[in-house]
Amino acid sequence: MKLKEECAIFGVYGAADAAQVAYLGLYSLQHRGQESSGIITSDGDRIHEHRAIGLVAKVYDREILENLPGRLAIGHNRYSTTGFSSIANIQPLLVDCKIGKIAVAHNGNLVNAIELRRGMEMDGSIFRSTTDSEVILHLIARSRQSTREEMIMEALRKVKGAFSLVFLTTDTVMAARDTRGFRPLCLGRLDDAYLFASESCAFDIIGAQYMRDVAPGELCVLGPGGPKFMRFAEPEEPLQRCIFEFIYFSRPDSKVFGENVDKVRRKLGRRLAEESPVDADIVIAVPDSSNTIALGFAEASKIPFELGLIRNHYVGRTFIQPRQSMRDWDVRIKFNPVRGVLKGKKIVVVDDSIVRGSTMRKLVSILRQAGADKIHLRIGSPPITHSCYYGIDTPTRGELIASNHSVEAIGEYLGVDSLHYLSREGLLTCVEEPHNYCVACFSGQYPVIPDGCLHKDVFEDRTGCGEGFGVREDVGR
Ligand code: AMP
Repeated sequence: MKLKEECAIFGVYGAADAAQVAYLGLYSLQHRGQESSGIITSDGDRIHEHRAIGLVAKVYDREILENLPGRLAIGHNRYSTTGFSSIANIQPLLVDCKIGKIAVAHNGNLVNAIELRRGMEMDGSIFRSTTDSEVILHLIARSRQSTREEMIMEALRKVKGAFSLVFLTTDTVMAARDTRGFRPLCLGRLDDAYLFASESCAFDIIGAQYMRDVAPGELCVLGPGGPKFMRFAEPEEPLQRCIFEFIYFSRPDSKVFGENVDKVRRKLGRRLAEESPVDADIVIAVPDSSNTIALGFAEASKIPFELGLIRNHYVGRTFIQPRQSMRDWDVRIKFNPVRGVLKGKKIVVVDDSIVRGSTMRKLVSILRQAGADKIHLRIGSPPITHSCYYGIDTPTRGELIASNHSVEAIGEYLGVDSLHYLSREGLLTCVEEPHNYCVACFSGQYPVIPDGCLHKDVFEDRTGCGEGFGVREDVGR
């Protein structure tokens, strides 16, 4: 079974051409998943579906969207986790069971999916995909509760870990978030239609209004009588919102966990400048994810912000490339230095995070070749020492450079003149409710331990599925 990693989900209820709306929403959530995309619609009677491997722009065309009629839709963009991908794993997943057709799209990772699946397989269940999300549909189909909502809520009480979900049936669109609120999910409104999206930036493109987040432990049902909010479980305090959404993953123009990503990111940069001042001529970002952090750094340090690296936007994130041998090539094609800006300068390079260190090592040599005199590296997050089990695609612990190297050794490996990471305390001062965040990737203190597993390496070994288990083969931007 595969861990499904970072993803985008979207839902529409009550809009003419719901598929078009979902398409636009998924387009603006492309950064959350680039491997495949799918939309399922309902015209009130029948379900229509389209899924394919590729970027949103490639997966759909006018004719495909016209063949997805209806006022209800859900959609999903999926990230790559392993070189292997199969059509059967492309979401939304759709099944036909005693309550009729039901589809689900999932962002997050279930930590007890293997156990649940093995138990059901022993009982004779047949699974069609290798994603953890299919377990949810099986649990719903097996439920003996009397109403559809009760069946879904019972299933949600059985799964553990991180899940933001959207469901579609012939007459409803629903959304749910796990009790700790790991991954974001918000509710919006467009005239008489209601929308769900992983991030609010998906509402802007359609002219919809952000209303509020789907609450942890909540099932929100959109039907003819307007939204109905139900609780499948009480929120578990403290919440475990993923702080990495602010550091790297969400778009700066989004509102996530009730805060503007742009504002939080600038604070990261300002705090970083306060924690590790430096004498330099210019501040540059590694575009795009660290742009706003670098702006915050420049503002607080009063060192001018310059565009010293230009990113080629037509190259996918390197870490979805299937073969290690292609990676270095990708870093070079992705980032090109602006020699005139860098030559002879003492530069502060701001990046959001270091995972394996391979991207930055390559970039440092590119910057040196461009004539940078001194390179002071500032990272807008603490060292990533532990793998994530809740939906961020991190490699196994042994591959994380900070899990087995000191900051000094990392600086030497990267070839920089100085290196500073934002402190964990500093990071937490940048969000409004610091106690409600998961920082397990920096601390190793996991709020929900994957059943019987202490780290990803073990998790992978024990699946025995032969496909690897959420191991990405390359990491980068
Ligand atoms: P690495 O070469 O492994 O150190 O990759 C570090 C780069 O990957 C950083 O510049 C980050 O912006 C980016 N990054 C961090 N986390 C992720 C992630 N989960 N998925 C994709 N890229 C990431």
